[in-house]
Amino acid sequence: GGHLLDVRDLHVEFRTSEGVARVINGVSYHLDPGETLAVLGESGSGKSVTAQAIMGILDTPPAHIRSGQILYQGRDLLTQSEEQRRQVRGKEIAMIFQDALSALNPVFPVGWQIGETLRQREGMSRADARARSVELMDLVKIPGAAKRLGDYPHQFSGGMRQRVMIAMALALNPKVLIADEPTTALDVTVQAQIMDLLADLRRDLNMAMILITHDLGVVAGVADRIAVMYAGRIVEHADVRPLYRAPAHPYTKGLLESIPRLDVRGQALSTIKGLPPNLMRIPSGCPFHPRCPYAQQVCVDEVPHDLVLGDGRTSACHFAQEVHDDSAR
Ligand code: SF4
Ligand code: MG
Repeated sequence: GGHLLDVRDLHVEFRTSEGVARVINGVSYHLDPGETLAVLGESGSGKSVTAQAIMGILDTPPAHIRSGQILYQGRDLLTQSEEQRRQVRGKEIAMIFQDALSALNPVFPVGWQIGETLRQREGMSRADARARSVELMDLVKIPGAAKRLGDYPHQFSGGMRQRVMIAMALALNPKVLIADEPTTALDVTVQAQIMDLLADLRRDLNMAMILITHDLGVVAGVADRIAVMYAGRIVEHADVRPLYRAPAHPYTKGLLESIPRLDVRGQALSTIKGLPPNLMRIPSGCPFHPRCPYAQQVCVDEVPHDLVLGDGRTSACHFAQEVHDDSAR
């Protein structure tokens, strides 16, 4: 059977006056109903751009979708008409962002903004939209929802604003929620509360979720699978537990070793040396080779293809099995 959402071999480039940046280089991932996929990577790895392609908000220069398919319920969003895509965007697939303040309009009360989606897209009456807005604000656990409908975005704390944005995203009962760094701007306590909320909503509404983050620590309790991105490619794709137990790609291993371990006192914090590549000049062979402690000559010469390991995960590394066995020790 088909997947709910199926991104296949997506290639995206940005054509600028300085040259062509190859931002997505053959990304494939899929999502089934109710499932959470975490997409993990440093900034510039292509995780947000993939999401923007799914949302159909990547149509304008310099962005150019070179090839690939984005199947939603078996239909390719990339070849649909603007009208057909509007039906999917926001309604079937909704997205929330890091910065709630810029996603919300500062001059309208939040209740009006949530209601506006319902009036515009569902043709709801003002009274019905208002009642539904209160329900949605309750759903995202904003205390005293009915009393706060008339408040403006700046009157909410950062965490509460994030909840308002989530309520707006949920207004049309999406089957997929894409959350792009939803907690990055928040302090640690509030981060945990928002992640708990997303996990609860995902379960209660049986929504599928794509959780985009640079922070491996955020995804452990929430995601079913993780796709790790580097230089516009997925370098490792695995179920959460096996990936945490023993990563099979040196980049994933580096990310894991960079997480502060609360259980190991005084453990040195290792970080991955070097910087992500310039996407106008991606290194030959394996794009990670300049930063990779496992690199050999073959890594400079040959692009690694996905190797499928025994537990079904994939790793785009010439030495995937060795790295996995090394991690497992
Ligand atoms: Fe490192 Fe080579 Fe594997 Fe790339 S292919 S991650 S350079 S060992
Ligand atoms: Mg981003």
